[in-house]
Amino acid sequence: MNAINIFWFRRDLRFDDNTGLSVASQKNTPLLCIFIFDTNILQSLPHKADARVQFIHTSLLTLKQKLVGQGSDLYILYGTPQESFRTLLEKFTIENVFCNEDYEPYALQRDTQIQGLLQAKNISFFSFKDHVIFHKNEILNDNTLPYKVFTPYKKRWIQTLQNNPLQLYPDVLQNTRFLPINSLWFPSLENIGFVPSPITIPPLKIDEEKIKIYDTIKDFPAMEGTTKIGIHLRHGTISIRKAVLIGKNRNEAWLNELIWREFYIMILYNFPYVAKKSFQPQYEHIQWLPNQEHFERWCKGETGYPLVDAGMRELNNTGFMHNRVRMVVASFLTKHLLIDWRLGESYFAEKLLDFDLANNNGGWQWSASTGCDAQPYFRIFNPNIQAQRFDKNFVYIKKWVTEVYSHKYPKPLIDDTFARKRAVEVFSKIKKV
Ligand code: FAD
Repeated sequence: MNAINIFWFRRDLRFDDNTGLSVASQKNTPLLCIFIFDTNILQSLPHKADARVQFIHTSLLTLKQKLVGQGSDLYILYGTPQESFRTLLEKFTIENVFCNEDYEPYALQRDTQIQGLLQAKNISFFSFKDHVIFHKNEILNDNTLPYKVFTPYKKRWIQTLQNNPLQLYPDVLQNTRFLPINSLWFPSLENIGFVPSPITIPPLKIDEEKIKIYDTIKDFPAMEGTTKIGIHLRHGTISIRKAVLIGKNRNEAWLNELIWREFYIMILYNFPYVAKKSFQPQYEHIQWLPNQEHFERWCKGETGYPLVDAGMRELNNTGFMHNRVRMVVASFLTKHLLIDWRLGESYFAEKLLDFDLANNNGGWQWSASTGCDAQPYFRIFNPNIQAQRFDKNFVYIKKWVTEVYSHKYPKPLIDDTFARKRAVEVFSKIKKV
């Protein structure tokens, strides 16, 4: 059996500007592209109709069709990564495995295990930086420690980028020696335990004119002034380098958002405890209120605060919520209702199309004031003032809360003045450690 190389697709579902794939494509050994439907991940998803799984499924079909066009195919496996690699080892003589880095705690552990499994058979495992511009410890402060505050991180990030201009890798599809193989199994959604979702995912469409004026429209949910690129960055159907090049030349505020993304990925990598605990350890002592009824009313968008309810209903219906409104609903849950940020974080993780552990955790801990460089605990959004400022004519609110002006709309779940005072009292008692 002739030896092959493997490229393992994960968060990088594309042929153009894909670092690991570009390196693998330069080798002479025939290349087989694989994807693993990881049962460890799939089985943790609570809903059978999950638009994210459907998005991955559709993106894989596109990759498969392109490979078939080159006389090759996409090898799909269903199981744990360990089981899947054992299957591959039985079927093929493998020389090298290539992939791109993933910085989430589960992924790091998975890759260490697979690397060990391969090394025991003398197979090399190569993984590359691709999901971010700067990874791990590339952006450090003057004491060679990871930053904990965004603004100086951003300054150094931009400076480092100026000294290391970005280069895009060309599309490898035409110029790679893919393994000739055909008619490989392609599972239906049902084969992997899922059903189609009623939610449609916006196609990747970068409106550069909109990006040019991003800073002036980004905060108004009715203007739909953001790009909805999140799910594509999450699964790599666009490369971050391309996105940064667009942002860099068009709008500083949009580039800033991409740097926030990287800041939180860096935080999760360097401080992995944040996935479960407050970044600022003293806030582990907050006595959150276990009020199930309040939590359910927040989830359903029935709090009696129009902007909060509009946001939650947008999320429940579309899998998206505007960033300004994410901040308002997260502040409302953690400050007004004093409910643990981890509950809100899990609800978002279940629902958001662009769900990403690092950014979701970062956004929640920022809003709950438990995170690094977070909103100070005494600065609590007033949801009604936020509505007046950012949805003055209730255009966004009326879209999602059609009964807002009728007697059917609920009274506020909690009094704003009382709730804000209570939150400040609870947070102020916590001693800094
Ligand atoms: P645009 O406004 O067009 O921005 C472009 C990209 O920049 C985004 O897709 C995203 O990758 C990045 N970005 C933008 N704002 C932020 C930010 N504040 N922090 C980090 N990255 C940012 N973002 C996620 O990608 N996944 C999440 O799971 C997630 N959960 C969040 C939870 C809370 C409580 C909060 C307050 C924010 C969260 N965000 C999350 C950040 C932000 O709300 C979304 O990235 C943004 O709304 C996505 O919309 P867009 O793609 O149209 O972004």
